[in-house]
Formats: sequence, C-alpha cells, structure tokens
Amino acid sequence: MSISTVSVLSDLLNALPQLRPQLYFKASLTALSHAMEDQVLAATADRPLLIASFQRERYYRQEAHRYRRIAQRTDQVYVLSALETDFTNASGFYETIAFDLEDALSQEWHLVIIGQQYATCLVCRERFMNPSKRKSPLPDSFDIDPSRQFEGIWTSDRTVSFKAAELLLARILSYRPELSSKIEQAQDSFGLNRLSKRKSPKNSNKALLTAPELGFSNIDPDPFVQRLVTYLQAGQYKLLKAYGAIAEQERKERLVNSITAAIRRGSNNGQPLHPQEILAVAVEELGQALLVCRCLIYRAGATETTATITHEFLNASVTSVAGQNLQLQQHPLFQAVVQQQESVAISDTEADDRFTSSVALQGLARRFALRSWLMVPVLYQRRLLGIIELHHCGESPHPWQENEIALVEKVATQIGAALIQAEAYANLEDLNGQLEALDRTRSNLIAITGHELRTPLSTIQVCLESLATEPDMPWELRQVMLSTALSDSERMRKLVQDFLTLSSLESGQVQWHPESLSLEECVELALSRTRTRASMEDRPKIISQVSEHLPLVRADGDWLVEVISKLLDNASKFTPPQGEITIIAACQNDETVEVTVTDTGRGIENGRLELVFDRFYQEEGSLRRTVGGTGLGLAICRQIVNGWGGQIWAESEGKDRGSKFHFTIPIALTKQIEPRINKKLTSKKQP
Ligand code: ADP
Repeated sequence: MSISTVSVLSDLLNALPQLRPQLYFKASLTALSHAMEDQVLAATADRPLLIASFQRERYYRQEAHRYRRIAQRTDQVYVLSALETDFTNASGFYETIAFDLEDALSQEWHLVIIGQQYATCLVCRERFMNPSKRKSPLPDSFDIDPSRQFEGIWTSDRTVSFKAAELLLARILSYRPELSSKIEQAQDSFGLNRLSKRKSPKNSNKALLTAPELGFSNIDPDPFVQRLVTYLQAGQYKLLKAYGAIAEQERKERLVNSITAAIRRGSNNGQPLHPQEILAVAVEELGQALLVCRCLIYRAGATETTATITHEFLNASVTSVAGQNLQLQQHPLFQAVVQQQESVAISDTEADDRFTSSVALQGLARRFALRSWLMVPVLYQRRLLGIIELHHCGESPHPWQENEIALVEKVATQIGAALIQAEAYANLEDLNGQLEALDRTRSNLIAITGHELRTPLSTIQVCLESLATEPDMPWELRQVMLSTALSDSERMRKLVQDFLTLSSLESGQVQWHPESLSLEECVELALSRTRTRASMEDRPKIISQVSEHLPLVRADGDWLVEVISKLLDNASKFTPPQGEITIIAACQNDETVEVTVTDTGRGIENGRLELVFDRFYQEEGSLRRTVGGTGLGLAICRQIVNGWGGQIWAESEGKDRGSKFHFTIPIALTKQIEPRINKKLTSKKQP
C-alpha cells in the first residue's frame, strides 16, 4: 500500500496540459455522476469499466445500492473510499479499495466509465476556502453544505477518460496489487494498454490517440443530456421548495413583526397601547395576512362563563358576529383549549367527530356559518387571556396548514405579552393614582391635624389644666370645663374614625358582605341612630316615606345603614329646627331602587354640587363651622355606594332653598330575606 499525497487531478492536468479545469458545485456533480451511472444502467450490450472514488465512506453508502445494480451489468467495477468504519478492501459484488484518510484521494471525487461505445470521466478536487483545512478530515457540516465547491474536469473525451482510468487503476493497484490480472484484463478489453504503451513526449496533443484509433465510434449524446436535465430539474424543484419554505418563513416573520411594530407604534407617547387597541391591530393584520373569512379576538379567562366577541376582521362576504356573547362553559372547543392549553383546528365541521357528536358545536357552526375553524389560545405563562379564532365559511373545507397554525400561535404569544405589558402599565397608573390620592390624604391629614385636631386638643388641655390647677373653681364652672373637654375629645375621635374608614374604603381593604335587605328596615335603623344622636338638640322633623313593599335590595347592610345615617345627619345639621327632612325610596327600573333624602335647609350652590363629595370639603371651612363634622362624610358615602355599583349625587335649587341627596342600590334577585344577615344588621352598631 502506498499513500499518495498528489491528487489524481494534478496528475491528469500534468499529463494533458491543454485541459482547463472548471468550477463545479456539489449539486452539479451529484447530477452529473447520477446521469453518468444511469448511462451504464440503461445500456444493454455494453459491459463497461467503472471506477468511482468517494471522499468519505458515508457518501459511498448513500450510493451503494446503485453500484450493486451496476455490478449486475459489468464485473469491471472498482469503488474507492476512505478507510473509516466498515469499508475495507474486498472483492464482493464489485471491488472495493479502502484508501487512507491521508491520501489525496480523500479530497477528490472521481467517476470514470469506459465502455465499448463511449467513455466519460469526472475528475474533481474539493476547493477549500481555507487551505489549512485541506489536510484535515472533512467536517460533518460539509455533508449538507450545498455550496461546496470542486474544481476539475468533466468530459466525454475518450482520451482524457482513458488517462483518468489509467491514473486511477494505478492507484488501485498500489492499494490492491492482487487485482493486477483483473486490471490487465480491463486494460486489454478497453484498449487502455495501447494508450499507456505508446511512448510520447509530454505536453503534446499528438501523444493522444484519437477515437477512431481507439476503435470507438461517435455516439449520440442525447440520452445522457436528457438524464442530466432530469437530475438538474429535480435539483431545481428542491431549490424551489426550499425558496417557498423560506418565503413562507419570511412572510410569517414579517406579519409577526408588523403586529409587534403596530403595537409599539401605537405607543408614540412612550406608553403602551391600550389592550383594546392591541387587539384591534392584531385582528386586522392577522385576518388580512391569512385571507380568512373571519378573524375574531376576544378576552376570556379559563374560568369565565361568558365572553363577548369584541374584535373582528371580516371578509366582505360573511356576516358579522361582533358583539355576540359566547357561553364558554357549554363550549366544548373552548373547554378543550383551556384543558390542553393548545390550539384546536377543525378542517371540516361537517366531517369532524367532535361536531357530529355535539349539539352545542353544531349550533355554533350554524350560527357562524362555519366550515373550517381554528381556535388559538392567547396565553401568558399558562394563564389564558383570550382566544383568537379563524373561520372559513365557504362551500369547501380549508385544511389548516401547520405553518398557518404556527403563525397564529406566534402572533398569540406576541398579543399575550403585549396585553400583560399594557395591563401592568394600567395597574401601575392605577397604583400611581392611589399613591397620589394617599399623598393628598396625608397632606390633608396634616392640614386637618393643624386645624381640626389642634383646636379641640388645645381646648381639652386648657380645660384640664384649669381643673387641675384651680381646686377652688365653682362647681358649675367645673361642669362646663368637663363637658367642653368631653365634646371636643368626641369631635377628635369622630375625625380619626372617619379618616380611618375612608382610608380603608379607598385602599380597597373593606370586605363587602352583600345580602338581600329590606330597605324599609335599614331606614328605620338609621333613623333611630340619628334620633339618638340628635335627641339632646333641637332638630328638624324627619318623615320617612319608604314603603315596606319595595323589592329587596342587594347591598352590605351595615354600610347601607351608614350611608342613610350620614345623609340624615347632614340634613339635620344643615336644616333649621323648624325645617323638614323627608326620606323616600322608589324603583328606578327593574334593577335599581333610588333613595332620596330631601331637606329644606341651607341648600348648596350650583357649582358646588360635586365638590361636596370631595374629601375634607366644608363650605365654610373647618375653622369657621358652627356645626360639627369632619368633611369626610359624603366622601365616605360615595365610596360605599360605588362599592355596590350604585351612584350618589346632590341637587339643590341654590342657597337656602334646601338640598336633595340621591343614591341608587341594585334590587336583589331573590325575594327571600336572609335571616342571619338581618339579625346581624340589627345587632351591629358600626360598619
Ligand atoms: P361634614 O362632616 O362637614 O358634614 P360631609 O362630607 O358630610 O362633611 O359634607 C361636606 C359638606 O357638604 C358639608 O360641610 C356641607 O358644606 C355640605 N353639605 C352636606 N350635606 C348638606 C346638606 N344637606 N345641605 C347643605 N349642605 C350640605
């Protein structure tokens, strides 16, 4: 065995210097080799000599089956490959010659066919961009690299083919000398001896034998060319498919990018888009890109019972379903999406088992005129935020392609992240608002401490000091001192209590216990509280016109009594003793009862009807007021009423023309009073 470090191509070019090597891509060489081999397989009479040399054993293995078939046509087949795992020197179906990896053959690709009627050869050497790689074994990534380049000769010139055969047979002999007689036999039958035995000066064309000299006639190249074209076309087809896949991938990425960009573009003031805007952008882009009849996006949580279709893209010919409600618990496909956290694709609603077995789904398919249906969940960290639906409503079904589903899923991921971002931003805004409100409250508290707390505290201090330092103080004066100190400390206590109540209502720390209540009973309870408080003072008359036949209302009983009490207290405070206060209640509609507290007191100026609900609002300012109060009562009332979804507002004809305070409560669905709660109501004093 002798390892040759000189390439066969170099030897050939030395021997035939008029040859000009060309550049070939791997794909072209594969097509050429296959066409050449097919020529052998197609020939009926010819039993040619074939020599093939592979760079690596694994390339040979891909082609081995072809060589078995070729070996059935001729016994002069020699296959060379690098010695790697299984490939060894052997005489089997054909001769195998295992060369050393260090041999220059490992960088080359040869195929030589010498027939009685024709001869053709391919002698090429791999071109490495980095020459240092030439000695090292080929890296694995080379196998799939279609841009691998080779330089060399491909020709049907018999003289060149003979020379190539001669060079390769010499290499074969150096590895397998025992084949010498078989090789000689080939040389004899194909006239190779005549070429090698002829002594001729190097670099001279005259040294080469012509075709007729070699005993061959010119043959028709058409069948070979046709085979070659077939192989090239196959390569072209593969290329087109690859381009198609790349274009599809590009389209997908463009769409996802455009949705992401649209979502970002919306935030031109640096704030993320509102969730509704995100969905509006996404439904439009997706619907247009996928050419569906209908694209829907709606918000839906995993445990929600209904969802409203809020966003829709429509192809002109189908009817809109926007604004419709979906019953999610009875929606088998929605439930499947929730459970699997995956998309559900129905290519044909008329043939799918899930539809034929579900009345609910058949109903939906009819309602939406659905033929093909895709439901994709919008998830964020496995939390369901909503659903994207694609509909095809035509006569024929639309088989959903994997790449279509993958595209919608990718968009859904984008939407999920954008929604969470927008929600986080909104929450942040909310939190900011709360913090600002808290800060305002804090500042107000400081102001109030200055005005409201310090004044009674000073009074209490003066009274107590006088009582302590003047033991001879007359008994009547002592009583005055004591009652002043007591009433001022009560005023302070009330302020602190109202402040704490409002703080807990505003920060959402209050636990609501809604129950079905008789409004009449609540009013009675509030009236008795007000009367107890006002018993020592000269207060106006209060008339209650709340019927016991009103429907039950749904609210937290303690807080409802608190609201009525505060409104009655205010009316009492700001109405002279000879005035009148009325409380009435009536159904506004099937869902709401309106309660109104009317007084004939000092009234409120038109521009202040909203201001009175602000925290610490007091018309005359806290320092100058003649009646008690903290300026927090109406702010507390608004928080409570809003808590059960109601509204509260004030009306007045103007100064000294009386006031009206209205608020609404939802009507309870049940006609039954909940006894437990009713008992609790009467026994509890403060919310
Ligand atoms: P206060 O403890 O001062 O009564 P509220 O929040 O209950 O605090 O009321 C705020 C302000 O609204 C009162 O100080 C008063 O100026 C005005 N107001 C409330 N109720 C009436 C009413 N029935 N008639 C006239 N003004 C009222």
